[in-house]
Amino acid sequence: MARTNPSTEVAQEALSYCTSCKMDLNHVIVAMKGDRIAKVQCLTCKKEHVYRAPKGATEPVKKKSKKETAAAEAAISSIEAEWTKLMTAHKDAPMKPYSMKASFALGDKLKHPTFGDGIVGKLIYPNKLEVIFSNNIKVLIHAGVTNQ
Ligand SMILES: [Zn+2]
Repeated sequence: MARTNPSTEVAQEALSYCTSCKMDLNHVIVAMKGDRIAKVQCLTCKKEHVYRAPKGATEPVKKKSKKETAAAEAAISSIEAEWTKLMTAHKDAPMKPYSMKASFALGDKLKHPTFGDGIVGKLIYPNKLEVIFSNNIKVLIHAGVTNQ
């Protein structure tokens, strides 16, 4: 049986993920299983181990762990749920365009040019607002509490 790829032969070099060095390194093929590389020897640490596909080839971007991704998604969905709840609760409140010179109160709805529709969830004395947007919570500046 003729091999199609002459580089995958025992004693040839192949890039593999080294389980000891924890990185992609050149290895020498020690054993083949059919057309697949079965065992390799690391040229750096000289250890023999089972062939692992180079990480760089399969995972070009460092992936977030499942736990991190789930936590981030949960945080976003809880903000979204809060936003939906507040928008529904204050559906009759007028939508004000956001301006640093305007003054906002708790529960005011505002339209931000970048973040979209938000609702004031907290007033931070003397001139800041915590505004809940559909997928983000932002602290914005406003004119502050007026004594009217
Ligand atoms: Zn190694």
